[in-house]
Amino acid sequence: PQAGSDLAAVRTRAVPQGDGTYKIFGQKIFITYGEHDMTDNIIHLVLARLPDAPEGVKGISLFVVPKFLLNADGTPGERNDVHCVSIEHKLGIHASPTAVLAFGDNGGAIGTLVGEANRGLEYMFIMMNEARFAVGMEGLALSERAYQQALAYAKDRVQGTEAGVRGGPKVSIIHHADVRRMLMSMKSQIEAQRALAYVVGAATDMAHHHPDEAVRAQNQAFMDLMIPVVKGWLTESSIELTSTGVQVHGGMGFIEETGAAQHFRDARITSIYEGTTAIQANDLIGRKIARESGQTVKAVIAEMRKVEASLAEASGDEFAAMRKSLSAGVTALEEAVAYIVATYGQDIKAASVGSVPFLKLLGIVAGGWQMGRAALVAARRLAEGSGDAGFYQAKVTTARFYADHVLSQAPGLAYSVVNGAAAALAMPEDMF
Ligand SMILES: Cc1cc2nc3c(=O)[nH]c(=O)nc-3n(C[C@H](O)[C@H](O)[C@H](O)COP(=O)(O)OP(=O)(O)OC[C@H]3O[C@@H](n4cnc5c(N)ncnc54)[C@H](O)[C@@H]3O)c2cc1C
Repeated sequence: PQAGSDLAAVRTRAVPQGDGTYKIFGQKIFITYGEHDMTDNIIHLVLARLPDAPEGVKGISLFVVPKFLLNADGTPGERNDVHCVSIEHKLGIHASPTAVLAFGDNGGAIGTLVGEANRGLEYMFIMMNEARFAVGMEGLALSERAYQQALAYAKDRVQGTEAGVRGGPKVSIIHHADVRRMLMSMKSQIEAQRALAYVVGAATDMAHHHPDEAVRAQNQAFMDLMIPVVKGWLTESSIELTSTGVQVHGGMGFIEETGAAQHFRDARITSIYEGTTAIQANDLIGRKIARESGQTVKAVIAEMRKVEASLAEASGDEFAAMRKSLSAGVTALEEAVAYIVATYGQDIKAASVGSVPFLKLLGIVAGGWQMGRAALVAARRLAEGSGDAGFYQAKVTTARFYADHVLSQAPGLAYSVVNGAAAALAMPEDMF
C-alpha cells in the first residue's frame, strides 16, 4: 500500500526455496481483477525483492504467482497462499473488481521468477507501455460513447425556440448554438485523439516488425515519446468530454437512468491507474525529451511544419484558419520544448511544474497536426469527387472547429510551461 507511484518503495519479499521456486510475502492493494470466478485460475505477476537485492528500483524482481498451483498435467491443483482480503468500493468502473491481496499469510505463496533477478521493473515496463496505450484508448472509448449518447439526446430533446426566430416552433436542443459547440468540442477532440492514437499504434507495429533496423528505431522513438501523451491527454480529456456529455443532457445527465453519468464516473480512474498524469508527464519531459535534448520531438515538429506548409497551399477560409492555428500551436510547442530542454538539468522542479501542461500542449498540437492531415485528404477527395462527400465535408469543418477552439489553447499552455514555475513553488508549506 505504501508503494504507489513510487515503485522503489516495494517491500514484498521473495525467499528462494532452493528448488527454483520462491516464497512470496507481502500485501498489494488496488489489483484490477485480482480476484474473480470468471476463469479456472488467476495468474498474478508480482514485483518483489530477493533477500540480497539492492535498494530502490534496481532491486525489484518479477514473479508469477498463480491462485491455484498447477498439477503435473497443467490443471489447477492445490490452492496457493495468495488471498483476496477485500474488494474496494469505488467511484466508477463498478463491473471491475479491485482487490486487496495478501501473499504468504499461511507460510508463503509459491512463485516462479520471470527472467533474471533484479530486472523486474524493466520487464514490467514492456507490459506497462502497452497498458498505458490501452488506458488511453479506454479514455477515448468513454469519450466516444458519451458523444454518441449526447448526440442522440440533443436530436431528441425539444426545448425552447431557435435564437433569432421570433414565434418560431419549439426545436430540439441541437439547434441551440451552445449545444452545437459542446457536441463539436466532443466530436473534434475525439477525432483528433483517435487519429493520433492510430498513428502511434501504427508506429508500434513498425517498431516491432519493420525489416529495416533504422526504421524500427525511428518508430520506437516516436512511440516512446507519444505513449505518455496518448495515455495522459486522452484520459484527462475523457474526464472533460464525458462531463460535457452530462452537460448536454441538462438535469437528466445527473440522473443515473440516462447512463451519461456512468461514463463520467468511469472516466475518472483512467488518468490515475497505469500511472497518474503527473507520472506520464515526468516520463515525457525527463526520459523522452530532456535526456535526448528533444531530438525526437524536434523531428516530430518538423513533420508538423510540413503539414502547416500544405495547409498554406490549400484554398478556402477553413484551411487558412487551420494553418494559422497550427502555425501558432507549433511555435508554442517549440518554445515549450526549448524551455524544458534548457531547464530540466538545472532546475528539475521548475521544469516539472510545467510537465502536465506540456503533455497537454503536445497532445493538442499533435492532434491539430493529425486533423490538418485528415482535412487535406478530405479536400483532395472532395475535389476528385470520390467517396462520401458528406463525410469529407464534415471532416474539414470538424478540423476547422478543432483549430479555432482546441488548438488555439496551445499558446496559453506554452505560457504556463515557460512562466508558471515561480508562483507554483513560491509558498512555504504552512502558507497553504
Ligand atoms: C480502481 C483501481 C485499479 C487499479 N488497478 C491496478 C492494477 O491492476 N495493478 C496495479 O499494480 N495497480 C493498480 N492500481 C494502482 C494505481 O496504478 C495507483 O493508484 C496509481 O499509480 C497511483 O498511485 P497511488 O494511488 O499510490 O497514488 P500516489 O502515488 O500516492 O499519488 C498521489 C498524488 O501524488 C502525485 N504524485 C506522486 N508521486 C509523484 C511524483 N513523483 N511527481 C509528481 N506527482 C506525484 C500523483 O500524481 C497523485 O496526484 C489501481 C488503482 C485503482 C484506484
